[in-house]
Amino acid sequence: MKIHLFNIANFKVDGGAMFGVIPKALWSRVYKSDSNNLINLSLRSMIIEIDKHIILIDTGWGDKQDEKFFRHVYLNGGEGLIEGLAINGYKPEDITDVFLTHLHADHCGGGVKKGNTEGKFELAFPNATYHVSKAQWDWAVKNNLREEDAYLEENIFPISESGHLSLIEDEGELFPGFSVMICYGHTPGLMIPIIKYKDKTLVYTGDLIPTASHIPLIWNMSYDIESLKTIDEKQKLLEEALAKNYILVFQHDEVVECCNLGMTPKGIRAKEKFGFSKIL
Ligand SMILES: [Zn+2]
Repeated sequence: MKIHLFNIANFKVDGGAMFGVIPKALWSRVYKSDSNNLINLSLRSMIIEIDKHIILIDTGWGDKQDEKFFRHVYLNGGEGLIEGLAINGYKPEDITDVFLTHLHADHCGGGVKKGNTEGKFELAFPNATYHVSKAQWDWAVKNNLREEDAYLEENIFPISESGHLSLIEDEGELFPGFSVMICYGHTPGLMIPIIKYKDKTLVYTGDLIPTASHIPLIWNMSYDIESLKTIDEKQKLLEEALAKNYILVFQHDEVVECCNLGMTPKGIRAKEKFGFSKIL
């Protein structure tokens, strides 16, 4: 197995929305914000080679929307999607499997690109099967007012129209050493990959634990659809991760790439924070 982590881009969101009910007096001690209360989030993707599969986890925002759309996203830094793949030695055509944790625009947008004809779209990874949970697909295509801004037609329907969509119904092993946990609190059908690499187990925590500052059970995003489910799902994952010494890999933490866990009087917390290269 080969494994790579790269940051597609950083973007900014409201810090209050990102920390839900936690007062700024508390979250601002652990996560930096600017004068507009915005915080910078990364968009780390993972590339994993297992047997003949080259799997890409999540694809960032992509670039299909107009300037007005991206004015509210505040993209900054990062390596880019296609450029990040190239740095690690891959072309878009090499990717056999695109694993989408869910269909919110910052996670799946880069999977579909503009076609040559105006108004037409095509897959950015033409040889890949696109994996989405059935629960998330069914939820996203019927859309809802609450997540309307996050589900964009042009990110979603070109996947099914291409015939490359694979719907995952159950938790368990998808590829050898690559298992999936399915969650419902952030959005129904959020998939969390759990990957065995050498003697380690890595959890790509996605939007279940977006940053190291979101490890405490009630430090959750107000974007979550059902916050009580998020708490239960985090607790289950964190207890297993502590017991089995898993390493958490953060998609959205601007600073912290990875950590392991320890028990404290306040509950499970990050023990050591370190860069991904330390795992390799
Ligand atoms: Zn999300």
